[in-house]
Amino acid sequence: MSAQTTVAAEACRVTRVFGEGPGRVDAITDISLRIHRGEFLAIMGPSGSGKSTLLHLLGGLDEPTCGSVKLNGQDLGTMSDDQITQLRRRHIGFVFQAFNLLPVLTAAENVALPLVIDGCSEAEADTKARAALARVGIADRAHHYPGELAGGEQQRTALARALCADPVLLLADEPTGNLDSRSSEQIIALLRKLVDEQGQTVVMVTHDAGHAAMADRLITLRDGRIEDEHALTRGRSTDVVLQELEPSP
Ligand code: ADP
Ligand code: MG
Repeated sequence: MSAQTTVAAEACRVTRVFGEGPGRVDAITDISLRIHRGEFLAIMGPSGSGKSTLLHLLGGLDEPTCGSVKLNGQDLGTMSDDQITQLRRRHIGFVFQAFNLLPVLTAAENVALPLVIDGCSEAEADTKARAALARVGIADRAHHYPGELAGGEQQRTALARALCADPVLLLADEPTGNLDSRSSEQIIALLRKLVDEQGQTVVMVTHDAGHAAMADRLITLRDGRIEDEHALTRGRSTDVVLQELEPSP
């Protein structure tokens, strides 16, 4: 197999600078990173270290100042805005801390909406939406409105929406930031299961070392650079990971 088929996404010497002069912010500096198919990658780092910016760059929501981002072997820098929009719709799933569901639509309608926008018939979008809700374990909530769903169910709905188009890459930016610990653990376990059972590629930003420990690999950012990288052995206790993350005395 060529490298192209095993790499879902790649950042090559990527830099992102916001603003100029005294207001200039070096959000990401010279980051190179390969994300393999079927890999669960966790990203940690202090607030402002560039985690969200990196995720946006990987998902084509933002463009690097220098360097290149490839998705599925395609260099985003060579594509038109329309092509990137289409690539994003079809190949990238995003979930954020805020669930961003439309309150006037049911769970199934929220999940189906991006497919309809992308030209799918309503009937086909509805079928796919129900299948996606089943994948995340809330098929029985299809007709509920977001206001009638618990936080964890709302995030599962957002996850179903992100997975509906069968994306190459699922990007999750602090997906449990608004959830209680029990719902958080369920969401992380669900992400793990999607990787293990369906070969989904996942990149997740988290503040929680216990959640990061569920991934296959962890990178830590500091001041826009990769400070550290660990391959994780599944099943290790959170304590071990926490110890590794703490700076040595
Ligand atoms: P994190 O997600 O790790 O908290 P971010 O990637 O959101 O960090 O931000 C990294 C740095 O870039 C921060 O200093 C932030 O203020 C800055 N930044 C992010 N987005 C923008 C933007 N659109 N315009 C200006 N500065 C930004
Ligand atoms: Mg962030």
